[in-house]
Amino acid sequence: MATRAREIAPEVRELSNYVGGRFEATGSLFDDIMPVNGAPVARVHEADEALVDAAVEAARGAFEGAWRPLPVAERCALLHRVADGIEARFDEFLAAEVADTGKPAQVARQIDIPRGAANFRLFADLFKTAGTDCFEMDTPDGRGALNYSVREPHGVVGVIAPWNLPLLLLTWKVAPALASGNTVIAKPSEETPATATLLAEVMDAAGVPPGVFNLVHGFGPDSAGEWLSRHPGIDALTFTGESRTGAAIMRAAADTVKPLSFELGGKNAAVIFADADFEAAIEGTTRSVFANCGQVCLCSERVYVERPIFERFVEALKAQAEALVPADPWDEACTLGPLISAEHRAKVLGYYDLARDEGAEVVTGGGVRRFGDARDSGSYVEPTIWTGLDDSARAAREEIFGPVCHIAPFDAEDEAVARANDSDYGLATAVWTRDLSRAHRVARRIQAGICWVNCWFLRDLRTPFGGVKLSGIGREGGLHSLNFYAEQKNICVKL
Ligand code: NAD
Repeated sequence: MATRAREIAPEVRELSNYVGGRFEATGSLFDDIMPVNGAPVARVHEADEALVDAAVEAARGAFEGAWRPLPVAERCALLHRVADGIEARFDEFLAAEVADTGKPAQVARQIDIPRGAANFRLFADLFKTAGTDCFEMDTPDGRGALNYSVREPHGVVGVIAPWNLPLLLLTWKVAPALASGNTVIAKPSEETPATATLLAEVMDAAGVPPGVFNLVHGFGPDSAGEWLSRHPGIDALTFTGESRTGAAIMRAAADTVKPLSFELGGKNAAVIFADADFEAAIEGTTRSVFANCGQVCLCSERVYVERPIFERFVEALKAQAEALVPADPWDEACTLGPLISAEHRAKVLGYYDLARDEGAEVVTGGGVRRFGDARDSGSYVEPTIWTGLDDSARAAREEIFGPVCHIAPFDAEDEAVARANDSDYGLATAVWTRDLSRAHRVARRIQAGICWVNCWFLRDLRTPFGGVKLSGIGREGGLHSLNFYAEQKNICVKL
């Protein structure tokens, strides 16, 4: 295992910032660790505050001087070249993502890297074809007036991204921001800086003008994340990450009153009715609990199952959890990676202990499996299922972000809806039933930004994506992204 991981990253590289079209190998260095075995995969130059200021200045200059004046067709053609560049270096992106996250290579090959490229194509094409409002109105003199709106980019957009789907989530924001005519300063997570650095190389090679895309590495508080959030030269800020980080960013950004888009945490409920296609519900719930080792904001950590099938469901999900394979991420059989870091593992294991203290029955897992090889220095935990917790237990209410769920029985539709809604979060839900009317009814009643019926994580990139309550502010995806990354200005012309 360790040998294989070292083959992925044979030498420890240095990752630079990218500001004004130059790779800046300055600043103190921090380690980028492989969660598969705890070994360093890269050393990263942390941007200091002066470099963040320089990035803002470069982005401002490029906005006025290069990007905004560029004809839309040329801007969008450049973004297609960025997508081409990601695809041309697919294997490098794949290796970097797998080394940084430890996720199964087959997952990154099918989802993370292709979506990184697809985001540029989608938003480039969408911006070229998206219409805006136009209204004719009457006036007292009978001549009338014509209203039409145009999309105006904000200027310099800050993008702060998490580590769980590093390239996918970073480009989900960078692509529409650039397509809309903004320039960008991106800050990837300190845990996963590698694919963002490759993206800077691709931007450079594609001929994206200097300063249009800038990359600063670093942390949150007292580092690049905080400096971007409160910077008066950042005109809009888009963030994906934990809800309490979103609150800190909101406070930091308050004085400069900038538009914010927040995609935050979740404690998502899955609701399985007794009439559901049992096998499909088990397959879907297995993915919705354990995909990416439970480190997807959309994962289900609360599973409510109608009582007649409760015990059968618990047994079947237990079998699925125990069949997950924590092999070498490059092994096609691998279905379970490690958590992102030793620090995150300590947090997840803390919840494993807490749930026991709160009275959970541990159906499976609950600890750390020993492998007898280098994975023991990695960040693996056992996939875990609990029953028996009260809905008020912290383990049943707080986001854990690991391969774990609590399964509880319910007796009636109203009860299931009420318990699903008894949460500070409201990101996503999955409802499993063959009753079409009930599916629509429950989907409408559950407080969440996204509701899947008889499926999970089916994503059409044109659809609105985001959460309610602590799970976020605003919607991104398709036109919703364009509406965030540009201001719509109304122009009223008297005829
Ligand atoms: P995090 O909030 O710890 O970090 C996210 C990013 O914010 C990182 O780049 C980090 O350096 C930066 N950051 C941290 N503190 C900051 C501060 N005070 N000011 C500015 N920047 C700061 O989140 P994470 O641990 O990287 O990601 C996991 C979280 O992200 C989970 O809560 C998950 O649910 C959420 N998430 C949400 C979505 C969504 O679409 N809603 C998608 C993926 C992940």
